[in-house]
Amino acid sequence: MGRSVLIHGDLLYAATAQELSVHPDSWMLVEEGKVEGIYEQKPEIENCEIRDYGKQLIIPVFADIHIHSVQYGQRGLGMNVELLPWLSTYTFKEEARFEDLEYGKKVFPLLLNELWSLGSFNLCTFSSKHLESSLMLMDMYEKAGFRAYVGKVNMDCCDEPRLKEECDISFADTKEWLERSKQYKNVKPIITPRFAPSCTEPLLRHLGDLVQEHDLPVQTHLNENFGEISWVQELFPDSENYYDVYRQYNLNPKGRTVLAHCIHNTDEELEAMLEDEVFVAHCPASNINLSSGIMPLREMIDAGFNIGLGSDIGAGDRLFMGTAAVDAIRSSKLYSMMSEDEVDPVNYVEAFYLATAGGGALFGDCGKFSEGSSADYLVVDDKCWPASDRISLEERLQQFLYLGGAEQITERCMRGEIVEKPFPDVC
Ligand SMILES: [Zn+2]
Repeated sequence: MGRSVLIHGDLLYAATAQELSVHPDSWMLVEEGKVEGIYEQKPEIENCEIRDYGKQLIIPVFADIHIHSVQYGQRGLGMNVELLPWLSTYTFKEEARFEDLEYGKKVFPLLLNELWSLGSFNLCTFSSKHLESSLMLMDMYEKAGFRAYVGKVNMDCCDEPRLKEECDISFADTKEWLERSKQYKNVKPIITPRFAPSCTEPLLRHLGDLVQEHDLPVQTHLNENFGEISWVQELFPDSENYYDVYRQYNLNPKGRTVLAHCIHNTDEELEAMLEDEVFVAHCPASNINLSSGIMPLREMIDAGFNIGLGSDIGAGDRLFMGTAAVDAIRSSKLYSMMSEDEVDPVNYVEAFYLATAGGGALFGDCGKFSEGSSADYLVVDDKCWPASDRISLEERLQQFLYLGGAEQITERCMRGEIVEKPFPDVC
């Protein structure tokens, strides 16, 4: 007989972008860490742990599918420049600090505590180029109960000498990192060419070979900024377009490629990306902070793309995925207005879906309470807001997305087990 847990409260989730499942005053049965079902009446189960959350909201954990863990310290800095000067003025200097493991020991616990507090437990993250620091980050995510893809960054082209790798060393470090990261269960490696301009063709070829040989996922950036796109055209004149660079080097494993931004895409690229079933990481705050543009979210949802949201810190500023969902709504409204209402904006159900099950799908059956999904949930106490006792569950969810944060989240659970603050002695 497996371990059973019954969870009571006001349950909400979105298994698709079109539909919010709403279960007031209901019971969710969890067996062996997976959702067995949701019931209006309390089911009679023997030897079952009961967690009664009363009138609190219970929602799936958030997924942040584009986050640079090593840029946590530089959030809010350099927001007056665009992507390429931002990288060389702020970001590369910050990432170079992770050569020193002591710096990671100082920064990562603060980051993990904040992610825990805000309920982001499904993560697809860049580390830095540093092998040991990347493994330390994986170790911390694993021990803290997160589910994550972590990428040691590859970059053998870079104007910051402390970050520039030699091609052979980059490849050798990546192989060692892959070998040593086999010890983790819930944290997995993901091949991470920073973006096409940061890698030589031999390095891209080596990485693509690793992807094929070991059946690995890939994360990188695509079509964020016009300067970046022109640069890719200059560097890779034989490629049909930016996305074609990744395709040419087999850095496009089907259904396992995460592409951040995807703002300025050609029709040919969109067609190829759909064919490869890529995951698009939409990072609305970052795209506005760096004046990159507005991703055509409505069109991409309607076209059937796999889409999740990314905080993209440090180009993004806030880690709370409720804010990312609201930013996605706001930028899609701007896009809609600029289209003179030709294109509809997205609504809160769609944005909530992207922030939970949309991004969660990258990790398997995650981010929702459907039968068989991993029982990963947050408990939200919203009684601090005066309307919460008279508005609907759907409205309470809207208030939480717009107004909420760590203060409202009273409990966090992964695979049916409550997750405690990872570093209680650190703020
Ligand atoms: Zn990024």
